[in-house]
Amino acid sequence: MTHMVIVGGGLAGGTAAEALRDEGFDGDVTVVAGEAHPPYQRPPLSKGYLGGSEGRDAVILHPADWYADHGIRLVTGVSATTLDPTAYALHLEGGERLSYDAVLLATGATPRMLPLPGHDLPGVMTLRRLDDSDALAAPLRGGGRRLVVIGAGWIGMEVAATARALGNDVVILEQGAVPLAAALGAEMGEVFRRLHIDHGVDLRTSVGVERIVGDGRAEGVVAGGETLPADLVLVGVGAVPNTALAEAAGIELQNGVLVDAALRTGAPGVFAAGDVANAFHPVLQRHLRSEHWANALNAGKVAARSMLGLSAALDDIPYFYTDQYDLGMELSGYAPLMSDAEIVVRGDVDAREFIAFWTDAGRVVAGMNVNVWDVNEDVQALIRSAERIAPDRLRDPATPLAELLS
Ligand SMILES: Cc1cc2nc3c(=O)[nH]c(=O)nc-3n(C[C@H](O)[C@H](O)[C@H](O)COP(=O)(O)OP(=O)(O)OC[C@H]3O[C@@H](n4cnc5c(N)ncnc54)[C@H](O)[C@@H]3O)c2cc1C
Repeated sequence: MTHMVIVGGGLAGGTAAEALRDEGFDGDVTVVAGEAHPPYQRPPLSKGYLGGSEGRDAVILHPADWYADHGIRLVTGVSATTLDPTAYALHLEGGERLSYDAVLLATGATPRMLPLPGHDLPGVMTLRRLDDSDALAAPLRGGGRRLVVIGAGWIGMEVAATARALGNDVVILEQGAVPLAAALGAEMGEVFRRLHIDHGVDLRTSVGVERIVGDGRAEGVVAGGETLPADLVLVGVGAVPNTALAEAAGIELQNGVLVDAALRTGAPGVFAAGDVANAFHPVLQRHLRSEHWANALNAGKVAARSMLGLSAALDDIPYFYTDQYDLGMELSGYAPLMSDAEIVVRGDVDAREFIAFWTDAGRVVAGMNVNVWDVNEDVQALIRSAERIAPDRLRDPATPLAELLS
């Protein structure tokens, strides 16, 4: 009997397990999830689940009995310790050895921690896991706490928004001049700066954090020569791909596990998907490691087909979304092409209701719709077409996006 093994109970791993059955595979499937939960998705952990408007059902992909009902062995709370690609074997904590025909590494990423004095004090947290979100929710839900967020990236900004909505005081400390500049550039990062300031966040940019202080637990953050009092400190400075299994197995790494468009590593029978995988993108003609929800979802499906020896390629246009206060946004496009692109805006930036297009020689390489809905497919069609479109037409709200293409 053929045996497919999936390492990691995140969105990529969970989706791959489901997709194996959807593709009609009726052999053995084992999911090894290091956390004590069935596979789950993370976006609600900084938004609705953290704030209390959504429950675990919005997070967990399927309850544990769904796996049993589909003949999938789900092992939770156990990590894979060693991968032996020559023997087609995976070893688990506790000593179990699994032989596989194909194995998927969907091990995700781990939050980066700053080597600051005081980083290990109780009350200093990162947010990646369901349990982290529960631990953060407990003090924040009651309101009236002082939260200091280090890093104005997506997770820091989302937690700040949720914490404010729950009635907490929030300071964000960012070393760059503008929040989210790495993802959006300065002009669009500014939209998010104003959003947070308008909602009462003390957002400080171009500031270096010196240390976290406290007697037995975090009580303050020293930054720019000032001590900011804190009941809780959230460090949101990015995540590092979990490559240890692959690395010890001698699989090629380069900013994650290096895979082709079919998500194959260089080792026969070993695949990688989701945040851990740096996959060759057939349209971009270069590798791209996307750390987003849609990538994990799509890659899980592609990996399943590929593991079954069916043709498959991860060629989607990268997609990301965020919700902060009353702002909802979707962004589709190729991050590596955005930094040198020109931005053309349709709509009203001050009212936070607009679409921003990143254009390269007249071609749309990315588009972000902010509080404008049902346009993402059209934005993706513009990107996919690679047609040159006059900026005036892009800007003109009277011309429906679908009519911009010849
Ligand atoms: C708080 C938060 C909010 C987010 N919000 C958004 C959003 O709004 N929009 C968006 O597009 N993206 C968002 N993301 C990003 C998105 O959630 C990730 O891209 C996605 O989780 C990646 O899925 P994955 O399956 O690759 O990895 P993960 O979800 O990280 O899952 C990997 C799993 O593998 C386990 N694992 C690791 N090593 C082993 C091992 N050796 N043995 C067994 N198990 C192992 C890990 O413990 C983990 O449970 C958010 C992420 C976070 C943390």
